[in-house]
Amino acid sequence: MFTAPSRYFNQEHEIFREQVRSFVDKEIEPYIDQWEEERLFPKSVYRRMGELGFLGIRLPEEYGGSEGDIWMTLVFCEELCRCHALGLPMSVLVHTDMSTTHIARYGTPQQKDKYLRPLISGEQVCAIAVSEPSGGSNVAGIQTTAVRDGDGYVLNGAKIFITNSVHADTFCVAAKTNKDLGHKGVSMFIVERDSPGFQLAKKLRKMGNHSSDTGELVFEDVRVPRDNLLGEEGRGFYYIMQNFQDERLIAASMAVSASQRALEDTIRYTRERETFGKRVFDHQAIGHRLADLATKLEAARQLTYYAADVLSSGRDASTEVSMAKLYATELANELAYECLQFHGGYGYMEEFHIERFYRDMRMTNIGGGTSEIMREIIAYRGLDRD
Ligand SMILES: Cc1cc2nc3c(=O)[nH]c(=O)nc-3n(C[C@H](O)[C@H](O)[C@H](O)COP(=O)(O)OP(=O)(O)OC[C@H]3O[C@@H](n4cnc5c(N)ncnc54)[C@H](O)[C@@H]3O)c2cc1C
Repeated sequence: MFTAPSRYFNQEHEIFREQVRSFVDKEIEPYIDQWEEERLFPKSVYRRMGELGFLGIRLPEEYGGSEGDIWMTLVFCEELCRCHALGLPMSVLVHTDMSTTHIARYGTPQQKDKYLRPLISGEQVCAIAVSEPSGGSNVAGIQTTAVRDGDGYVLNGAKIFITNSVHADTFCVAAKTNKDLGHKGVSMFIVERDSPGFQLAKKLRKMGNHSSDTGELVFEDVRVPRDNLLGEEGRGFYYIMQNFQDERLIAASMAVSASQRALEDTIRYTRERETFGKRVFDHQAIGHRLADLATKLEAARQLTYYAADVLSSGRDASTEVSMAKLYATELANELAYECLQFHGGYGYMEEFHIERFYRDMRMTNIGGGTSEIMREIIAYRGLDRD
C-alpha cells in the first residue's frame, strides 16, 4: 500500500524497525488472540522486551537505556501497533512512555537507581495513576490526598481506569499535598505495589483493549516515605502536563499505525472479495472512500511526525501534539467504522480483526485526554494568542 517516504528516519531507525517487526511477528502476533481472550498478556513479555532493549529507548544508558531519539520511539510504537490488537501495545507504551518517564525526568539519582533499572530491564512494570472516579479531565481537581506525617506522607483516595494495574510493581501517583492550592497543590509520588493499605480494588471489564489490564486502585492510609516524592512538592501538575506531550504524541502514533494495518487489511479483503461479478474494491463507491481514508491517514501521519519534530526540538509542542492526537484518533474511529462496513457481515464477526480494531480504537480519543480537551488546548493555548 502507498505510504509517503519520510525524511525523519535514517538507516539506524530502519534496522531497529526490522528488529521490532520481527519480534512482533514471531512473539506477539501468534499469541495475541489468546491473550485478548484471556484478557491479559503474560508479564514475561516485558522481560523479553527488556532483554531486546525495547523498554528504555530514550532513557539513560547508566540505567540500562539506549539514549535513542524520539524517532526510535516512534519506530517502536509504529511496529508494536501493527499487531492485531491495541491492548498490549497500550500497556507497554504506558510503561515505557507514559509512566517510567516520570521517574526518568523528575527522579533523584537514588530513585532512578532503585526504580528505573528494573523497569528498563522488564523485571518490573510501571503505571501512571492520575484519573479518579470523580473525574479525569480536570487534573487540578483530583481528590486523593497526601498529608505530611513525620518523615513521609499518608495517602488516601482512589484512582480509576489505571492501565497496568494488575501487572505493575511501581505506580507514579498524583495526590494533593495542599487541597486549597488547586493545580499548585498536586504532587507526584512513587508508590510500591506491596505498600500496606494500597490495593487493586477491581480489574475493570472493558469494551476493547482486552489484553490490557485496567483497574481501580484504593489508597487507605498508605505511608509513603519522603524519599518517594517525585521532584518538588506542588509541581506535580506541571510534570503531568509536560509528560502529556509525550503521551499524546504516542497516542497519535498508535492511532496512525493501527489504522494503517486496518486499512491494509481492508484493501486486501476488498481486492479478494467479489460482488456483482467484480472485486469489492472496483466498485467506485468503495474505491473512492478507501482513497479518502488513505489520504486522511497520510495527513495524520505527517501531522504526527511534525508534532514529534517540534517536541524533539525542545519547544513547547502542546498545540501541535494536541492537533496530532485529535486528528489521528478521530480519524482512527472514522476509519474503523468505514473499514468494518467494507467487510460486510464478516466485519461484525469476532474472527475478523477489523471487529477488534473497531472496539479498540474507541478509547483512543478518550484516554490520555479526550478530544474535547484537545480542542480546549488548541483553541485557548494555540489560537487565542497574538
Ligand atoms: C482504557 C483506558 C485506559 C486508561 N488509562 C489510564 C491510566 O493509565 N492512567 C490514568 O490516570 N488514566 C487513565 N485513563 C483515564 C483517562 O485519561 C480518562 O478517562 C480521561 O482523561 C477522561 O476523564 P473521565 O473519564 O473522568 O471523563 P470526564 O473528565 O468526566 O469527562 C466526561 C466528558 O466531558 C467532557 N469534558 C470534560 N471537561 C470538558 C471541558 N472543559 N470542555 C468540554 N468537554 C469537557 C469530556 O471530554 C468527556 O466527553 C484511561 C482510560 C481508559 C478508557
